[in-house]
Amino acid sequence: MHALVEPVVAWFDAHARELPWRHADRTAWGVLVSEVMLQQTPVARVEPVWRAWMQRWPTAADLAAARPDDVLRAWGRLGYPRRALRLQECARVVVARHDGDLPDGEAALVDLPGIGTYTAAAVTAFARGRRAVVVDTNVRRVLARALEGRALPAPHLSSAELRRAGDVVPEDDAASARWNAAVMELGALVCTARSPRCDACPVADRCRWRLAGMPPDELAGRRRRQAWHGTDRQARGRVMAALRDAAHPLTDGDLAPLWPEDDQRARVLASLLADGLAVAVDDDRGPAYRLPGGPVAAEERATLSTADAVELPA
Ligand code: SF4
Repeated sequence: MHALVEPVVAWFDAHARELPWRHADRTAWGVLVSEVMLQQTPVARVEPVWRAWMQRWPTAADLAAARPDDVLRAWGRLGYPRRALRLQECARVVVARHDGDLPDGEAALVDLPGIGTYTAAAVTAFARGRRAVVVDTNVRRVLARALEGRALPAPHLSSAELRRAGDVVPEDDAASARWNAAVMELGALVCTARSPRCDACPVADRCRWRLAGMPPDELAGRRRRQAWHGTDRQARGRVMAALRDAAHPLTDGDLAPLWPEDDQRARVLASLLADGLAVAVDDDRGPAYRLPGGPVAAEERATLSTADAVELPA
């Protein structure tokens, strides 16, 4: 067994967070939903949404039958709401092709809409308890530091990096699933991108980056900085929030105060229409926009929260 495995798994046994998608009564579908939500969004934001979502739509069949506008509203402020529509598309395929049960095996999983190699590996490990090489940004960072002595992994995952990650994963199914969860948790809680807590790290005595004096990131100049203010992503997030909360379709005039740049607003509306996140309708005030799936019931609107001012991308 690789030298990292035992200390990291022992640390995980003592420090793992209690998360609902790790409970013994979790379903494979619930694990998949958590993985899709967690791809771009932190645990603290995902957890309450996941709980409400799984209560409302516990199975793929439940989600497949839901209205898309309900799905987008329930997705709320998780950001990147195309993930919600892809998840529903996935649920529909699971119902149509697999009688509502997630198929077994990574190859069958990546055949589903919106399921990439990472999610297929994560579901195989965390839902099925089988050996898989699960490599997310947290895992990549821990391995880059501990094994390669680098501050951060390369911007894109290479096949060599994937092979090296696979070399560390134990052969045994149960041990492998445990390792995957443990190293991911270490990256999320201890070996964080900006301020690793090496004094709390179970592999500090063998971490090459730490032993080398933590040399700076040699790829810092090549990393893409994610701009936010004034970007189309911010504008999309703002328009989507308005559509989610609206009691009726919104005209361009309704949206103008939210995003006064006419060209950018038009571009963003076109992209939301193209992505299926909004539909155009004829309102008595002129062309207007709403979520796909029809108007929302008044009592449901009353429960929609507009209190949270945090903005997220759409
Ligand atoms: S010693 Fe520090 S840098 Fe190395 S793996 Fe642990 S937390 Fe990360």
